[in-house]
Amino acid sequence: MKPRHNPRRANGHRRNQTRDRVYARDNTCWLCGTPVDKTLPPRLPASPEIHELIAVTRGGSPYDLSNCVLSHRACNNWIGNRTPDELARDTREKPTIQTTTLIDW
Ligand SMILES: [Zn+2]
Repeated sequence: MKPRHNPRRANGHRRNQTRDRVYARDNTCWLCGTPVDKTLPPRLPASPEIHELIAVTRGGSPYDLSNCVLSHRACNNWIGNRTPDELARDTREKPTIQTTTLIDW
């Protein structure tokens, strides 16, 4: 059987280590520049995610701290696989992240 190779999952421990270091280094989203709440649970638009400047599918390293930046989940989705150069040519409006709670206690 041929082992399936997925560079993103190949080394989970190392990947977690990279994520922890990016979380420790960055406090604001690489794309929209607003603060990222690192305590939010996953899968919310404002949840913290690691964005690779050069996507893994394009040869970027998921472990290289200079390639990994903090971003909101929604921002990361908006960027997709595009390079910073391609993003600079995108004239669409960037996503707006709601970072303040709307719940009235
Ligand atoms: Zn953002």
